[in-house]
Amino acid sequence: MILKSIEASEIELFPYKPRKFQREIVLAIRESLESGTPLVLESGTGSGKTVCAVSQALKFSIENGKKIIYITRTNAQQRQVITEVRNIRKRFPEFKEDIFTVGVQGRAHTCLLARSDPELSKGSAEELSRFCSEMKKRKRGDGCPYFENMNDKFDEVEKLGEWIKDYIPTTEEIIERCRTLVMCPYELNKIMVGDANLVVAPYIYVFDDRLRNLLLDLMGVSEEDAVLIIDEAHNLPEYLRDLLSSYLSVYAVNQCITESERFGDPFIFKSIKLSNFLLVVRDAIDQIRSDFLRENENDALLSEDTFLSIISDSLDITRKDIRSIAEQLVLIGEEIKEIKQREKKLPRSYIYRLGVFLLSWIDMDDERFVRLVVDETEGKNPRIEIYCLDPSLGAEPIERFHTSIHMSGTLSPLEEYKDSLSLPEDTRLLSFPSPFPKENRKIIYSPAVSTKYEEIKFSDDMVDKIKSMIVEICNNFNRNTIVFFPSFDLMNDFINRGLVKEIKRTIYLERREMRQDELMDIVLKFKKGRGKGNVMLSVVGGRISEGMDFPAEELEIAIIVGIPYPRPTARQKALQNYYDKKFGKGWEYAVNAPTARKLLQSIGRLIRDEKDRGIAVILDRRASRFRKYLGDLKISGGIIKDIRDFLEAG
Ligand code: SF4
Repeated sequence: MILKSIEASEIELFPYKPRKFQREIVLAIRESLESGTPLVLESGTGSGKTVCAVSQALKFSIENGKKIIYITRTNAQQRQVITEVRNIRKRFPEFKEDIFTVGVQGRAHTCLLARSDPELSKGSAEELSRFCSEMKKRKRGDGCPYFENMNDKFDEVEKLGEWIKDYIPTTEEIIERCRTLVMCPYELNKIMVGDANLVVAPYIYVFDDRLRNLLLDLMGVSEEDAVLIIDEAHNLPEYLRDLLSSYLSVYAVNQCITESERFGDPFIFKSIKLSNFLLVVRDAIDQIRSDFLRENENDALLSEDTFLSIISDSLDITRKDIRSIAEQLVLIGEEIKEIKQREKKLPRSYIYRLGVFLLSWIDMDDERFVRLVVDETEGKNPRIEIYCLDPSLGAEPIERFHTSIHMSGTLSPLEEYKDSLSLPEDTRLLSFPSPFPKENRKIIYSPAVSTKYEEIKFSDDMVDKIKSMIVEICNNFNRNTIVFFPSFDLMNDFINRGLVKEIKRTIYLERREMRQDELMDIVLKFKKGRGKGNVMLSVVGGRISEGMDFPAEELEIAIIVGIPYPRPTARQKALQNYYDKKFGKGWEYAVNAPTARKLLQSIGRLIRDEKDRGIAVILDRRASRFRKYLGDLKISGGIIKDIRDFLEAG
């Protein structure tokens, strides 16, 4: 870690009294902006890195005419950036005219027609773009009322624009006002983006070429005249892998069959009808599942040949013929999309997607991808997948920007992050310790238990021992407690063994399938337990552990059940082999680093500011392997006594 200090008594455009390390963070960001050298910055949750980045990027923008794209994973992070910009303008009114920010969201979130239609609201950016252009070109009264109204009421649009410039509303506030005035929030934002020097957008607006070009055109800049700030950057490698991967499920093939029933069943190759081909594809996926997946395994690696040879043998055709069929499917799918578009429906075609997937499957010849069969549904909906092992393939746009600033509370090991994305050699890597008093956080682990597969698989005793520890902690302290399990499956195992019945507190459960509003509802109820001691059962790497704040007594004890190592699936092993070959660090990069980040994210829920106090209890002796990431980790001689001593000292 490199720490420098700066003399400036007042940091320019900084709206608060700087906290510990904020001057150093500001200096590092400033150097990156001025030199154009990328910066990877780790600084604990609550350390105020967002305001450091926003204030210095705005200052740089005012002085140099560059624009800023700040990308976030969640709406809450987007709102936080907007709040900081408002505070900066309030504190420095003389810069009000020079600072303007717009929060951008896709049509799935901002199109008022899509928001009220369950089918449309699930549309992709490309599908909703087509739907929108259809609605905009229709005759008056038959198209989009929000768009028509905007064209009619130019004065109202101007007034809305003035309100946005003056107040800098969040996207939700713009949506609500637009709904009342019957205007389109998406179109309004498109108009406003041109005047903004800082735009906050979801990741996809940088990593999808079409959306990035659209955004840059609207902002009136090229990449080299813009600065890229990536928030919660620890998510980026996994995000890019997902973005570059694709899959074909039995469900999707069934949707193709439904489409063929509705839109026609033509011959697609000699005497082969579309429906005939689709049934063969579906059977091939099922057959691969039963041939390749062993008991208790969810995935297996495949060769290109496995899938194609079943199809060619069943239909007596060559691979070249399958390629022609795939091209044919793309054309048929295009026609279906056009028909749906004319019908004012979501222009989606599963037949189109199947064609595109088959072409990728046939053409993919790249060791940075693997082919897999995956089934997490006990045979109900297996899928085949093309999985990207190398996120640097999708990170290429980052280098085009004037500079990039990658920030997170949990990025260690920083070298791994830099290597994974192939960031330039001169990228600066900086890690700052937590600015909060050390004595406010305690991390202990029990040497008596472990969730190591071999130990819990063959020993009910071990599971019962861990369960007793959880119950004892929850029943002994009337403080809000979250129990983080390594997976929903393991959480359910504990529930099936009576965990919920034995805890004498109000318990809330995070469920995998919960909608966001349902999850927020139980989180709010849980938070109200301060003083009574509510318990939440949750998972590491989930929505609660990765993104929610629990200040003060809203959370005082975090129990982490086991070390959240990734499961040794075929996908995981392929990733590890790939990193071994590329960097000679398979275990460290593919296993240790993501595990450490998940642990730190869960523990990070405890402390949000200098007054917060909290204790994390890791129920796994293997925690000692992560000492270098969890600096203040202590072995526990008696968990209840350790917790009591800590809470009483507060
Ligand atoms: S103009 Fe706006 S509200 Fe209308 S379809 Fe397009 S995005 Fe939706």
